[in-house]
Amino acid sequence: MEKLLNYINGEFQAASSGNFFENIAPATGKPYSWIPDSDEDDVNRAVDAAQTAFSSWSKLSNEERSEWLQRLANGIAAKMDLFVAAESKDNGKPLKLAAHVDIPRAVQNFSFFATAIIHYASESHYMVGTGVNYTLRKPIGVVGCISPWNLPLYLFTWKIAPALAAGNCVVAKPSEVTPYTAFLLCKVMDEIQFPKGVLNIVHGFGHKTGDAIVRHPLTKAISFTGGTSTGKTIASIAAPMFKKLSLELGGKNPNIIFDDCDFDEMLATTMRSSFANQGQICLCGSRIFVQRGIYEKFKNAFVAKVQKSKVSYPDDPQAHLGAVVSKPHMEKVLSYIELAKQEGGTVLTGGHRVQLDAPYDEGYYIAPTVIEGLAYNCRTNQEEIFGPVVTITPFDTEEEALMMANSTDYGLSATIWTTNLERAHRMADNIQAGIVWINAWLVRDLRTPFGGVKSSGVGREGGWEALRFFTEPKNIFVKYS
Ligand code: NDP
Repeated sequence: MEKLLNYINGEFQAASSGNFFENIAPATGKPYSWIPDSDEDDVNRAVDAAQTAFSSWSKLSNEERSEWLQRLANGIAAKMDLFVAAESKDNGKPLKLAAHVDIPRAVQNFSFFATAIIHYASESHYMVGTGVNYTLRKPIGVVGCISPWNLPLYLFTWKIAPALAAGNCVVAKPSEVTPYTAFLLCKVMDEIQFPKGVLNIVHGFGHKTGDAIVRHPLTKAISFTGGTSTGKTIASIAAPMFKKLSLELGGKNPNIIFDDCDFDEMLATTMRSSFANQGQICLCGSRIFVQRGIYEKFKNAFVAKVQKSKVSYPDDPQAHLGAVVSKPHMEKVLSYIELAKQEGGTVLTGGHRVQLDAPYDEGYYIAPTVIEGLAYNCRTNQEEIFGPVVTITPFDTEEEALMMANSTDYGLSATIWTTNLERAHRMADNIQAGIVWINAWLVRDLRTPFGGVKSSGVGREGGWEALRFFTEPKNIFVKYS
């Protein structure tokens, strides 16, 4: 089996412990490569390399850094098929999803911030007759970027690109569950002779490698995407060290459907917002609230459509859903389906593991699942499941929908379906979420702020927000004599 390696100071290296652990393909349940089991020693070397590289990288002009980022984008684009196949194999997602979403968006992330940094400007505040303030926005130094397994390269680059563009050097860790495309990115860096030490990628377990990145006194900012409980742990370590923190955490997003919506468009989009990437997108609308006038119509049409979805191995061009990411995750999702039954829910379709033929017979496949009859405040409707499982719940009034939508600890995103303009704005205004789509889902504009409220996170990514996060403002006042 292939051995993946860390990339520190422009060199491929095994973990200093010499240990590796298995990387398992979710589609087959079989190991197919080895991941370095890195620890504090490896992180220390990566931080040293980043600290050394910072003095030259931060002094490059924005245009020079922009060119380097564009070369990274081009390097991934030139190996598109390789990256797509690797992402699909590592994560279990359908090949066509990796080809249309994950890898093209990783390329776009580098291209976007390559150009954004050229247009990034700092502020000045003129005081009549007194003087002028101008604000420098300087890179922070060494920053840590830690990302999850659901959209591996896409979310990894969403952090790394603005961090580098702003002039920081990075120590980054992909999820140990999906490390492969980050390893391929290192190969691209090696080929284009990306400046040594500017971007260091260290593989390993979160509680060990990730923890060492967060604790290191020289990682001055931590950008993390992952679960809320991990975010809490990271904040408890980083906050007393006064590190800058960006935390993109879990969600339990409402999809609110009023009876005056464009039914066909809503239905097609609701299929995607429920089950895209096997429901493993932080923005998926896992709680579907439907106004009573169209509840039965929606339920019948939705269940019929879900039953036609094909769960299959990732390379199957007909696959709508592939494998979920790991055995523990599959077991977690299935346990929530059992919990839903105990809480009085009725499984309308799905609700079980799907057994494919060999060589996929040990893969982690779950039938897309629709559950009704649950109270809005039961655990199934309050806790993040992060799999192909949605609940449907009827409502009568706008107020009731809003109350149920806002009832969870989370506040990442929401979708509202209605043709009543006033209602759409009113609901969007009152919903507790960082991102609201009206008559749409997951329309992506890289300039917009991305992130959540309540337990869904702290801070925003995207556009200027990301560049502001990865820079330290310094205000300078000049007095007129
Ligand atoms: P985790 O929180 O388990 O892990 C995220 C990353 O953090 C991984 O790289 C993980 O490493 C690492 N990690 C784990 N423990 C620690 C620690 N103690 N210190 C430092 N790093 C650590 O999340 P998942 O990977 O399971 O991802 C799913 C979660 O991510 C869901 O809750 C989902 O909602 C959320 N998410 C949020 C998004 C948003 O934008 N708000 C977008 C996408 C996902 P390892 O895997 O190697 O253990």
